[in-house]
Amino acid sequence: MKLLLVVACALVDADNRVLIAQRPEGKQLAGLWEFPGGKIDPGERPEDALIRELAEELGITVKAPCLAPLTFASHAYEEFHLLMPLYVCRKWEGFVTPAEGQAVKWARARDLRKYDMPPADAPLIAPLIDLLG
Ligand code: C5P
Repeated sequence: MKLLLVVACALVDADNRVLIAQRPEGKQLAGLWEFPGGKIDPGERPEDALIRELAEELGITVKAPCLAPLTFASHAYEEFHLLMPLYVCRKWEGFVTPAEGQAVKWARARDLRKYDMPPADAPLIAPLIDLLG
């Protein structure tokens, strides 16, 4: 089975809320809420891929030392096995400005289960609750 490497981030604001973004129409899993991020290009380090994706998708600048690895998602979709490290980031420059028209929400970790998420993302909620309450 094909392995797909994706990297994702829990951006955490000063009120301890986490940013989730809704997958736009036309994409796979459209309408589901996910932790922002994206595919790791061949040879790219996960942190570099995440910094690139956060700039492209949300218009924010993140520095590598501000990314703390928390856990991994590992999910076998029908077409591929997705392996996705989740980083936590509390410090960035700029304001979150969704570049692809995605809806975004800041939510408490304990409220994240109210949102429909891709099956790979949902198991990431528990470690975030452990971390953030
Ligand atoms: O975002 P993108 O479409 O490039 O991601 C590729 C695939 O990885 C998606 O179709 C989806 O199956 C999976 N994915 C996920 N959770 C994310 C990001 C991507 O399950 N947060």
